[in-house]
Amino acid sequence: MSRRILFISDLHLEQGRADITEALLAFLDRNESACDALYILGDLFEVWIGDDDSNELSAKVAKALNSFHAAGAGIFILHGNRDFLLGADYAASCGATIIPDSITITTPIGPAIVLHGDDLCSDDVQYMQFRTMVRQASWQQDFLSKTLSERRAFAEQARQLSQQATSIKENAIMDVNPAAVEQRLREHGQTLMIHGHTHRPAIHELVLEAAIDSRNQARRVVLGDWDRHGWYAAIDADGLVLEKFPL
Ligand code: MN
Repeated sequence: MSRRILFISDLHLEQGRADITEALLAFLDRNESACDALYILGDLFEVWIGDDDSNELSAKVAKALNSFHAAGAGIFILHGNRDFLLGADYAASCGATIIPDSITITTPIGPAIVLHGDDLCSDDVQYMQFRTMVRQASWQQDFLSKTLSERRAFAEQARQLSQQATSIKENAIMDVNPAAVEQRLREHGQTLMIHGHTHRPAIHELVLEAAIDSRNQARRVVLGDWDRHGWYAAIDADGLVLEKFPL
C-alpha cells in the first residue's frame, strides 16, 4: 500500500450532536487499514475542560481512535482554540500523540506545515490576547486546579462571549491574515500549509510576495468544519484532495 495521510479538523464533537460522533466513527471505519497517519488539526471537541472530565462521549471517541491506531495508523492531535486543554493522558487513551502547532510533517507530495489556524487570524486582536493568556502553562495549571463545575462555568461564559464577539466582528477579521500566512510559510521554508479553524474549506493557490526556496507559489489547504457535511483532506502519491460527504 502506498502512503496515505488523512487530515480532519473542527468536528466540534459534543453530547448534543451524536450525528457528528457517528460520522467520525463511520469515517474511521471506512479508512481503517487504508491510512498511515491521521492528523486531527484542532477542535476535535467543542469544549475540553480537562482530561479528568471523563464522559461517555470522550470514552467512545477514544475507543474508536484507539482501534483505528491499532489497525496501523499513527494518530496526531493538534490543539484547537476550543480543546487546547486536551492533555497527554487523553491522547494516550486514543493511541494518539499531541503535536505542536505549525509543525512541518513529511507527506508523499513533500513537506507541509500543519496548524489549527487560529493564530493566523491576527487581525482579531481581542482573540489573540485571549489566546496568549490561555496558552500559558501557569494559566492552565491554575485553571485545571479548579473544580469541574467551576471550569464548566468558565468554559460556558467564554463560549458565549466568543459567540457574541463573532457576531459583531467583520467577516474579514475572522479569516486568516494573508501576510501572516506568508510569514508562517517563510519561517518554516515551506510552500504547503494545511489548517482548519476558519470553517472556510478551500484550496488556495497563492502567489508569494517573495520567493521561498526559489518557489513563487504556495498552497493553503483549509479543512471544513463538520456540521451538515464531514470534511477531510487526503494525501497520497497521486496528490492532495479535499473532500466532503453528507453527515
Ligand atoms: Mn477553531
